[in-house]
Amino acid sequence: MQGEGSDSNMEWTSVQSKRGRRGVGVSTPPKILANPLDKTEIRNRFSSIATDEAGDVFSPVDPREGIRNNPNKIPNINLDNVKNWALLYKTLKTNCAFPPVARLAGRRTVVKCQTIADFFLVKNLLAQEKVDFFTYRLASEKKRLFVIRDLPINLGTEEIKESLEERGVQISKVTQLQTTKPTFKQLESNKDLKSVPPRALPLFLVELHDCTPSVDFLAVRYVCGLKIRIEKHRPPKGPPQCHRCQLFGHTDKACHMPPRCVKCGRNHLTAECKKEAGEAAVCANCKGGHPASYRGCPVYAKLKQKLTDLKNKAQNKTKKTENSQVPIINKEKVRLTARFRNSYSKF
Ligand SMILES: [Zn+2]
Ligand SMILES: [Zn+2]
Ligand SMILES: [Zn+2]
Repeated sequence: MQGEGSDSNMEWTSVQSKRGRRGVGVSTPPKILANPLDKTEIRNRFSSIATDEAGDVFSPVDPREGIRNNPNKIPNINLDNVKNWALLYKTLKTNCAFPPVARLAGRRTVVKCQTIADFFLVKNLLAQEKVDFFTYRLASEKKRLFVIRDLPINLGTEEIKESLEERGVQISKVTQLQTTKPTFKQLESNKDLKSVPPRALPLFLVELHDCTPSVDFLAVRYVCGLKIRIEKHRPPKGPPQCHRCQLFGHTDKACHMPPRCVKCGRNHLTAECKKEAGEAAVCANCKGGHPASYRGCPVYAKLKQKLTDLKNKAQNKTKKTENSQVPIINKEKVRLTARFRNSYSKF
C-alpha cells in the first residue's frame, strides 16, 4: 500500500494484530476486537469486493477485509483533504476512550478506531467539524433485504406493507425497484441508447424489521391475496456506487462527502437536480455525456478491470503457494528418508 511508513504500519497493524503488539504509542482497548470469524473472512475475501460496502478501491482499504462477514470488524473512516490533521487528531484523541490510529493514502487520511463506541463518536465529531468523509456500516447495522415477485406493477408499497403486517411480519420499508435500462423496443429505435429515465419494475424490495426473523417472512405465501415468490436481494455485481457522491466502493449509508448529482454531475443531491428532460447528462466521474450510474462509463470499466486483475493475481498466488508446498513436503520427506538411510547405514 502506498504512503505507508514502517512506523505507522506498526501502529496500524497493532490495533488488530492477533499477537496483540502493545506499547507502540497508543493504548489498546480490552480484547473486544477478537476475530472469531477469521476463517469466513479468508473464504470470502473476494466476494466482498463486488458487494455492498466492503472496501473502496479508490481508498487504501483492503477490499479483502470482509467487513460484512464479521460483526466485530470496525470499518475504516476515510477522510478527504484534511486541512489541519494535528488539530483534528487532538479533538479525536481527547474524546475517544482509546486514541484512534491513522495513516495517509494520497489525499485521504484513513482513520481506524479501536472500539465500536469510538467509531460512532468519531463519525459524529467529523460530521460536526464538517470534514468530508465516508465509511461503511457495521455488519450488524445492515438490513435484511428480500425481493417480492409476481405482484402487479401498480400495487402500492403501503398496501404491501399492511398486508405483510397483517400476517404478523414487521417490516421497516417496502420500495418498488426501478431500472434505467432501455427496453428492447427503445433499443430497436435507437441502438446507442445508454439509459432512459427510471421506470418502475414489478419487483418490491422489502427491508425486514430487526424483530422479524427471516424464516417468518419467508413463510409468507400471499400478499393482498396474490401468490408471491420471495428472493434474497442480490446487490448488483461489480463495485457499489454511492448515491450521494457517485464514487465507487461505498454506499450513501455512511457517506459524508460533498454530494454530486447522478444526472448533471454538479454539486447537489440528485433529488435536487433541475436538469430538463431533454438536456444532456454529464457524468460526475468522467465528465462524459452519460449519467454517473451508466455501467459503460470508462471510470467504472477501468475499476472493474482493476478488481478482476487483483482477483486473478491473488488466485494465482494462492495456486502457486499450494503447488510450491508439495515439493517442499516431498523434499522434506526425501531428506528425512535420506537421514534415516544414512543412520541405518551406520549399522
Ligand atoms: Zn459517497
Ligand atoms: Zn443535477
Ligand atoms: Zn462516466
